[in-house]
Parts: sequence; C-alpha cells; structure tokens
Amino acid sequence: ATSPVTLLGLGAMGTALARAWLAAGHPLTVWNRTPARAEALAAEGAKAADSAAAAVAASGLVVVCLLDDDSVGAALDGVDLTGKDLVNLTTTTPARARARAAWAEERGARYLDGGIMAVPPMIGVPEAGGYVFYSGSRELFELHRAALAVPVGTRYVGEDAGFAALHDVALLSAMYGMFAGVAHAFALIRREDIDPVAFAPLLVDWLAAMAQGAHGTAAQLRSGDYTENVVSNLAMQVAGTPTFLATAEQQGVSPELLQPYFALMRRRLEAGSGEEDLTGVVDLLLADR
Ligand code: NDP
Repeated sequence: ATSPVTLLGLGAMGTALARAWLAAGHPLTVWNRTPARAEALAAEGAKAADSAAAAVAASGLVVVCLLDDDSVGAALDGVDLTGKDLVNLTTTTPARARARAAWAEERGARYLDGGIMAVPPMIGVPEAGGYVFYSGSRELFELHRAALAVPVGTRYVGEDAGFAALHDVALLSAMYGMFAGVAHAFALIRREDIDPVAFAPLLVDWLAAMAQGAHGTAAQLRSGDYTENVVSNLAMQVAGTPTFLATAEQQGVSPELLQPYFALMRRRLEAGSGEEDLTGVVDLLLADR
C-alpha cells in the first residue's frame, strides 16, 4: 500500500512532485497559499486542504517545497507539527537549514532537509537522472525512502541538516563556473563566421572530458600531496595565461570572467607551487576567509 503524503507549495516544482505522487497512487493532500493552483491537482485526485494546518494534519509525512526559507516560516507559523515527519525541499543555505531543523525539532517533528538536483521536467522521469540530496534525520529518511524516491532519486548525505544544502550549493556553484567558461568561449567565436551550433558539441565534449580532472583534485586534497599525478603543472599553465588574455583582447572579448581565476593561479605559483596542479587554488580560497 502506498503511504499518504502532504505537500505544501504548488509552484513549478511542487506541482511536478504532486503529479508524480498521484501517478504512483499515493493519497496526496496539497496546500498552496494561492488556492487556485490546487484546482487542477484536485481534479487529478489530490485532496486540496483549506489551510496549511489542515494539510499538515492529514499525513504523517509532510513535504514542503516553497520559494525560500522565509516562506516556510510563514506557511508553518503556528501549525502543530507534533509527531510529524517534515521534509523540506525548499532551497536555502546550510545555516538556515540547520536553524529550520532545530525549529522543527523544538515543535516535536523529525526533520529532513532536501536539495533538489533536478528541474521540473525531470521529476517523475527516472531516466533523466535527477535526484534530491537529503540530510538530517536518518530515521525519517529510511522510513519514508520509498515515498521520497517516487518523484526523483534520493541521496542521503548525513545527519547534519545543513549538508544537503551544502552539497546542492557546491554543485551549483561549480555549474556557474562552467557557465562562465561557456559564455567566454562563445564570446570568443561570436565575431567570426563560426556557427555556434557546430561549435557547441566540441565545447560539451571538452568540458565533459576535463571535468574528470575533479577526481584527481579530490585525490590530492585527500592525500595532501598536490604534486602527485600532476597532469599539467601550474608553472606551464600560468605561462599560458597571456595567450588566453591576448586572444580575448584580439577578439574584443572582456577578460573579466577569466581574470579572477588566473590571478589565483599566479598567486599560487608565486608562493612556490609551480610543480603542483591547480589544487592549491582551493587553499587560497580558504585562506582568504
Ligand atoms: P515557484 O516560484 O514556482 O513557486 C513558489 C511557491 O512558493 C509557490 O507555491 C508560492 O505560493 C510559494 N510561496 C512563496 N512565498 C510564500 C509565502 N510567503 N508563504 C507561502 N507560500 C509562499 O518556485 P518552484 O516551485 O520552482 O521552486 C520551489 C523550490 O524548489 C525553491 O526553493 C526552488 O529553489 C527549488 N527548486 C526549484 C527548481 C526549479 O527548476 N524550479 C530546481 C531545484 C530546486 P503562491 O502560488 O501563493 O505564490
């Protein structure tokens, strides 16, 4: 038998989650601040609650997917959470996730925080490879694992309620670094008669191949020896940076996305780390804090 689920928040993500639970036959109670968004789901078999309190009362498992942590506080203000299993899929910072966990536990709930590594079209589509990072109550995770795995994959990353958010933000931060590189690469070819659609597969394949380097970085961080298995040493890489900056200038492209990373590479070289790979940049980022 499928277990009942309550879902608060029917935005783009919440609505996709709701459809996946309905399709799998879970009795689903939904609530949204703007009630109109619950109407279509009610027609598909969900029970639309009149208030967040009524929705929370309807199931032991309460999933929240709202805009931000402030909306979670607003929606659950004064709601009785005693004995509930609260799963919060709202994106936030690690610190706010930890505070929200303490807040929920003070109110007698078990708490699991989630960071969604998927966009709405990937929900309910296992082949799409999306998943949610979970952290917080392991008991809650184990107990509701089957229901949680219905819309999208699950990865439990620890008892610290902030770890799901930390993993989420770490992956997305790396993504923005990649997007920055992609923007710079397209800008470089943009003034020429080069078809961006023909260029894109070259870019994608190169990034996929180079992303493998993260395994080597990880091994060096673990061992503490940044000269082990070096593929391209820092001295050589820094010597190459004028080529990148000159090419940007020749193509009339602003170097502003490349410069900060090159500056860190130079600082590490000047500190005497020419035989290393790029791993030392991680320490520079930490040392500045
Ligand atoms: P939407 O903007 O589509 O929906 C926001 C939801 O939050 C709506 O249900 C809205 O209610 C509700 N809300 C906003 N403010 C309040 C408030 N003060 N009190 C009560 N409810 C409130 O966002 P998504 O559904 O796309 O995203 C939800 C969460 O999922 C976010 O934390 C987002 O970061 C995360 N996420 C989204 C992804 C995406 O691609 N969409 C990908 C990964 C994570 P109302 O309808 O009344 O405005």
